[in-house]
This record gives sequence, structure tokens and C-alpha cells, in this order.
Amino acid sequence: METKKPILIDGRIIAKEIKKELAQEVSALLDGGKRPPHLVAVIVGEDGASLSYVASKEKQSREIGFTSSVYRFPETLTEAELLKTVDFLNEDPEVDGFIVQLPLPKHIDEQKIIERINPRKDVDGFHPTNGGRMMYNMPSFVPATPMGIMNLLNRSGVETVGKNCVIVGRSNIVGTPMAILMSRNNAQANSTVTLCHSKTKNIKEVCANADILIVAIGKPEFIKEDMVKEGAAVIDVGIHRIDDSTKEKGYRIVGDVDFENVSKKCSYITPVPGGVGPMTIVSLLQNTLKAYKNEIYID
Ligand code: NAP
Repeated sequence: METKKPILIDGRIIAKEIKKELAQEVSALLDGGKRPPHLVAVIVGEDGASLSYVASKEKQSREIGFTSSVYRFPETLTEAELLKTVDFLNEDPEVDGFIVQLPLPKHIDEQKIIERINPRKDVDGFHPTNGGRMMYNMPSFVPATPMGIMNLLNRSGVETVGKNCVIVGRSNIVGTPMAILMSRNNAQANSTVTLCHSKTKNIKEVCANADILIVAIGKPEFIKEDMVKEGAAVIDVGIHRIDDSTKEKGYRIVGDVDFENVSKKCSYITPVPGGVGPMTIVSLLQNTLKAYKNEIYID
């Protein structure tokens, strides 16, 4: 029997499209004599993944015409010193938005740092004020990954209205905001949402009922073919490096979904890498432009 090929939701292409739109907007601002938007990233310590993520943010910010700065601190930075930096960035009128790269070293209380960020400059959308505003459907900075997934679905033409959307994973940065966004009363969402986690019973049956399955659990290739409904749209947020001696690099990158087998069954699927990943930074850039234009908090 011939297997049908799903539509690959290519995050690289969609991210590029959005960046082009952003670059055009920035260029118009500059032509009008305005200063460019300014995004700052603060990084503490030498975590490899965080360093490369921040480097990518810096590069992509510059590509679209933003001013980009990175504040790099050693692992030994104290909590008080980091709070002082946050206060400084909160006050700097030339900084539109900033992020403090997580995870932070163990001696620093992450929540305390997040809560010190001025919600108007919280382009990661992690401050409780933005979380609360999002819940009440008020203008807010939406966390980058769920915002990117909404863009992926909508720009790929995945029908969401009245569909069963199952989200696996309830983290504050992905699963929980995703559930809020997909259940919103608008033409880009209006799905019936089920939010699964590690205590969910019969997860296989629940997932197999999904028209849209969004997976963010941090377990390599956890979602198998028998957990997916024929014709479903599958969004894979997970990203893992797996040892593989057959590869030149000695590893391969996989997601939370068994792509090879699941892709035979679904209508749409995101690859890993190249699906959700590229959208995260783009969403951050979109949020920074919103901060610059004062679109979220009106004075
Ligand atoms: P997280 O904070 O570790 O949360 C994992 C969630 O999955 C939790 O809610 C947990 O349930 C649930 N879970 C774990 N095992 C499960 C199981 N066997 N069955 C059902 N649910 C289970 O994860 P996260 O930060 O959301 O990240 C998830 C994955 O996405 C990771 O691989 C991460 O690297 C990746 N990620 C990628 C991007 C990107 O830009 N591509 C961005 C963010 C995250 P409990 O709440 O019950 O513990």
C-alpha cells in the first residue's frame, strides 16, 4: 500500500518569512528617522546550549536591523548583582525588551529575577503580569515557543476551529500557555483543548483522539504511531541529541515524536530540527518590536 506523505511544516521557511516582514517594518522606522528597536540578552555562566541560543538571538536581531546587546556574566555573579542589572535595564530608555537566559546558576532564584523584570520589557513573556494578562485575553507578551507554534499552525493553513487539540506537557513556558492560546475564542484557535501531563491516564487513547497533537514533554520519540490519529497535525516541540555511531558527528537530533513512523499517518508534521525551534527566536523578535511600539501596554 502506498503511504501518503504529510505536509512538512517547515519552521525555517516560515521564520524567514516573518523575519522578512519584521526587517521591512524596521527599515520603514529607520527611513522615518526613528532609532532601531533594541533587544538585550543577559546570560550568566557558560552553559553551551544557552550560549549558542543567545548568539543566535544576537545574530538574528542584527539581521533584521535591531540593535542587539548581550550582557555576559560569570557563573559566580550574585543574585543581588543580577537584580541590579535587571533594575538598570528596566530603567534604560534605549532598551525596548530584554531576556534573562534560563537556566540560571543554582544560587540565583529564577522566579525572583523574572518578577523583577518590568512587564513592559518582558519580551519572553515569563512575568506573572504577562501570564495573567494572557489568561484574561488582554494584550500581553506571549511566551515565544507557544507564540511560534500558533504562527506555524496558522501560516501552514492547519484548521483549528472546533478541532480536538491535545497538548502533552504542562510547563509554564510551553504546554500551559499553549492550552490557553488554542482554546481562545478567535478564528486562529477555537479548538477544544485537552492538556496532558505525567499523571494523565490512558494517554495513548487521549492522544489518538487528537486532530492537532502538540508535544512538549522532553522525552525522545515518546509519541509513537499508535498514539496518533490518521490525518492528525503533529507539532513536536522536543529536541534531543541522541548518540548515533552511524552519523559522522556521532549523534542525531530527534524530537518527542517518533518522526519516521508517525509521519506516515499524519496530515501535517513539524520536523526536528527545523520545525518549532526556528520559530522561538522569531517570536522574541516580534515581541521586541511590539515593546518598541508600545503595543501591549498603552500609557
Ligand atoms: P518540562 O518543563 O520538562 O515539562 C515537561 C512536561 O511533560 C511536564 O508537564 C510533565 O508532566 C510532562 N511529562 C513528562 N513525562 C511525561 C509522560 N511520560 N507523559 C505525559 N506527560 C509527561 O518541559 P518543557 O520546558 O516544556 O520542554 C519540553 C521539551 O521541549 C524539551 O525537550 C525542551 O528541550 C523542548 N523545548 C523546545 C523549545 C524550542 O524552541 N524548540 C522550547 C522550549 C522547550 P508533569 O507536569 O506531571 O511533571
